[in-house]
Amino acid sequence: MAESSWSPSSWKSKPAAQAVNYPDQQHLANVLAKLHTLPPLVTPSEIERLRFQLGAVQRNEAFLLHAGDCAESFDACTQQNISAKIGLILSFSLILIWGGRLPVVRIGRIAGQYAKPRSSGTEKIGDREVPSFRGDNVNGLDPDDRKPDPERLLSAYFHSTATLNYVRGLLTSGFASLHHPRDWSLSHVRSPALRREFETITEGLSDALDFSRTIGVDSGREGVSFERGGGRGVVGEVDFYTSHEGLMLDYEQALTREFDSKGAFPSPGSSQAPQGKAFYNTSAHFLWVGDRTRQLDGAHVEYFRGIRNPIGIKVGPTLGNEDLIQLLETVNPDKESGRVTLITRYGAGKIDNHLAGHIRAVRDADHPVIWVCDPMHGNTLTSSSGLKTRNFGTIISELTSCLKIHASCGSRLGGVSLEFTGELNDEGFSVTECLGGSMGLSEEQLGLRYQSFCDPRLNFEQSLDVAFLISNHFKE
Ligand code: PEP
Ligand code: MN
Repeated sequence: MAESSWSPSSWKSKPAAQAVNYPDQQHLANVLAKLHTLPPLVTPSEIERLRFQLGAVQRNEAFLLHAGDCAESFDACTQQNISAKIGLILSFSLILIWGGRLPVVRIGRIAGQYAKPRSSGTEKIGDREVPSFRGDNVNGLDPDDRKPDPERLLSAYFHSTATLNYVRGLLTSGFASLHHPRDWSLSHVRSPALRREFETITEGLSDALDFSRTIGVDSGREGVSFERGGGRGVVGEVDFYTSHEGLMLDYEQALTREFDSKGAFPSPGSSQAPQGKAFYNTSAHFLWVGDRTRQLDGAHVEYFRGIRNPIGIKVGPTLGNEDLIQLLETVNPDKESGRVTLITRYGAGKIDNHLAGHIRAVRDADHPVIWVCDPMHGNTLTSSSGLKTRNFGTIISELTSCLKIHASCGSRLGGVSLEFTGELNDEGFSVTECLGGSMGLSEEQLGLRYQSFCDPRLNFEQSLDVAFLISNHFKE
């Protein structure tokens, strides 16, 4: 069991997996002191609102879409990339809402997803063995720039801020309006069948909106609405939340702030807010602990147990049933609804051996959780040309097994966690990082527009394929 005294720095007394060794500790301390004075990126009322909405996901009244890049980079922080990401998330959620007739809670892996856990401290580049790339907030992709530099943490804060500012701007300026879903950049989708399917939805929607306006029930909130009956979302017309892996605990600590709940939670859904003071991580609405850093007695779990934000825990094949329950007891001792999302990522070949046992253990312990399927991280392989890739068919296989196993256990899949991108190259073509999908991407085509410097992402078309699969499942 975890000890009861927690502070934003109590993690320091525990071993931290994936810790970064900064050669200049004074420089690090100066940067952290500066970060500590900078304003929050997100607010307690937004965080409480997400907790409330995740409570609805847990009660099967909504579905969770968690998606974005494996890792963001400072260079990819551009107007075009950010709008393509948001456009894909909106298109994907629209397809889900249409099929499932359920609100979708959208959490982007965005505005702070810079740090990466690595399986080895060094990697081979050409014939050199160099320190591994740990993400833009630690060191550089260039093999000559692998020394951890604390200034990068500040740069991560400012790139997160710029990203979030543009996302907020987009979503408060009509970008999410259902009257113009084509603005979400469907124009480049070359598969006629996929275009047709999406257009059927948008035409149906357009008719429905016209009809509502004609009979006078148009609420004026046209975005992909979570709550019927008005109110603006956290970020403009629709609710949209940010997330990243809470890996760099020094950074997370510097952005952890204590707030008094009195008057701090004006938004709907704040009824669950704690009385008195609570600590919020103000760098993102939602943080998750990775499969490599979820040790029960480790620093990450210690940090996560004390923050008020809703959290995710990656659940892979190496997590035993008892440890899973211990983890839940540690991070959610009061069994609060909306607090914990379990993101399962076993691999298509392993899910049958683990998921049902995990579901039963959690049920027997009576812990409220949201079950989310990450069909990406257990299914990574290396192509014959040496590129890291994933097969669309294998991703779908884990996802369909997951849906089936939940159904056979009397449980329900509450959401999906995907690595995808709407990013296009200069000629308007999608990236080519995962094999297969309705566009039938072949191994020879992988090298054409492989842009990820971390895990391979589904491109726009492949992502819509997944969205239709889930949407059709809900319709059945
Ligand atoms: C990730 O989500 O990018 C990741 C590294 O996942 P995991 O911790 O599940 O391997
Ligand atoms: Mn990844």
